[in-house]
Amino acid sequence: MASAKYIFVTGGVTSSLGKGIVAASLGNLLQARGYKVTIQKFDPYINIDPGTLNPYEHGECYVTDDGAETDLDLGHYERFLNVRTSQANNVTTGRIYHNVITKERRGDYLGKTVQVIPHITDEIKDNFFKLGQTGDYDIVITEIGGCVGDIESLPFIEAVRQAKWDLGDNNALVIHLTLIPYLKAAKELKTKPTQHSVKQLLEAGIQPDILVCRSEQSLPLDIRKKLALFCNVQLNSVIEALDASTIYDVPLLMRKEKLDERVLTKLKLPHKDQPQIDDWRSFLGRLKNPTNEVNIGLVGKYVELPDAYKSIAEAFIHAGAHLECKVNVHWISSETITPKSVNRVLRHMDGVLVAPGFGERGIEGKIEAIRYVRENNVPFFGICLGMQCAVVEFARNVLGLEGAASTELKKDTPFPVIDLMEDQKNIQDYGGTMRLGQYDCKIKKSSKVAAAYDTGMIKERHRHRYEFNNEYLKDMEGKGLKAVGINPESKLVEIVELSDHPYFVGTQFHPELKSTVMSPHPLFVSFIAAVAKNKKNQ
Ligand code: GLN
Repeated sequence: MASAKYIFVTGGVTSSLGKGIVAASLGNLLQARGYKVTIQKFDPYINIDPGTLNPYEHGECYVTDDGAETDLDLGHYERFLNVRTSQANNVTTGRIYHNVITKERRGDYLGKTVQVIPHITDEIKDNFFKLGQTGDYDIVITEIGGCVGDIESLPFIEAVRQAKWDLGDNNALVIHLTLIPYLKAAKELKTKPTQHSVKQLLEAGIQPDILVCRSEQSLPLDIRKKLALFCNVQLNSVIEALDASTIYDVPLLMRKEKLDERVLTKLKLPHKDQPQIDDWRSFLGRLKNPTNEVNIGLVGKYVELPDAYKSIAEAFIHAGAHLECKVNVHWISSETITPKSVNRVLRHMDGVLVAPGFGERGIEGKIEAIRYVRENNVPFFGICLGMQCAVVEFARNVLGLEGAASTELKKDTPFPVIDLMEDQKNIQDYGGTMRLGQYDCKIKKSSKVAAAYDTGMIKERHRHRYEFNNEYLKDMEGKGLKAVGINPESKLVEIVELSDHPYFVGTQFHPELKSTVMSPHPLFVSFIAAVAKNKKNQ
């Protein structure tokens, strides 16, 4: 069993209450008191990982250093805690069943009937305890996706009940996150949905230790008392979670409600000193008191659902705060961009980011946007597909290679400037087979990105199948599009840059995945700095 203490976070009443943010905020406060903390998420769906999910349905797929395709909440964990997560931090029902069935085929169960209880629940518990056994953490926060009462989360809830029992008194606790709706007509906050959801937990044998109550209105004492009495928790374990103007306020709101103190008391852990949150406060100060402002057009295909580009949006917030510059992100559907409309759509943008993506839809709009920013000296940042589109645009309009394309989008193009990677050619399965996770990249001195990173060797995270076709490298460089970041082993081009431009950078990797509050990503910082400078010079 695990040596770390465990905090389980469940949710009730409705989804989208922000369990991930509450878990990350609590982790942040405990870390600020000197504890080593990690957060893991268990998702009750059958996909082995979210890599095959449509971003419209599930938001962005977050990739870790070790190449796991994970839930976007892991991005929050990294951004709030400034620690790295891995495959072990995100486990789905699909993965649990896959493990159990693999063991069954191997004969590990010695002829026994394999059942949800105990085999699935044991597998879930083994996965709960993995990170706690490493000795790297004092506290493991474990978020259970979905809502209590969902059929598919039942085995997880049962596993939480058992894990709490296994770990013993003072070593584990359950925080239940619920919603206290405000009925305008009755002018009242309603506790009944929370009571019902706690009853559902009780039916599963779990008495929550702490309630975190999302609410649009502050919870008066009588409501807190009612919740405490009917949900069987101590009065000071009813924690109010008011809507916040930014998710980064939540650690301070939780601090005000003393969530960290309640948790430490219940886990019988020393309170040590007050949490060290000065740096966090100063980040919030810079975020909320900008001295400058820029408008960035984010050109992408999934713009109706901003969660699809979560890490990019957050990376802009980190970089903006660092520079005391408000970054207004304008979500622009690439399908609205044509040679006729491009000037109208992008005219008021101080900088443009072309987003990652898959498939053909909206590609020509992205390429047109890049032509516009390249020719008009508007700062540009292209990520993954955005970088690939920049290469295609340059091939077509500067090298004169008519019909140049990525073979992802046009198999029979005469000029495949972006092509399938060699080791991708025989892959049939979609799940988990891209070039995933962290790879080295050597940066050419004297480039703009070298100045931004301030180091010659970096590691960044990838998620793609196609690559810059090195057959065209010499011609591209001859005309000014330089490959300034190269993988030292495979020689894959990882960064391209135009020297004769205020800022024109494309990366095959995803820098946004490594940006955190405490260490904003150097490329986002350099991009926003260039945008602000360019705007001033106009
Ligand atoms: N579709 C492109 C590829 O697979 C880019 C992927 C991305 O933007 N993440 O290479």
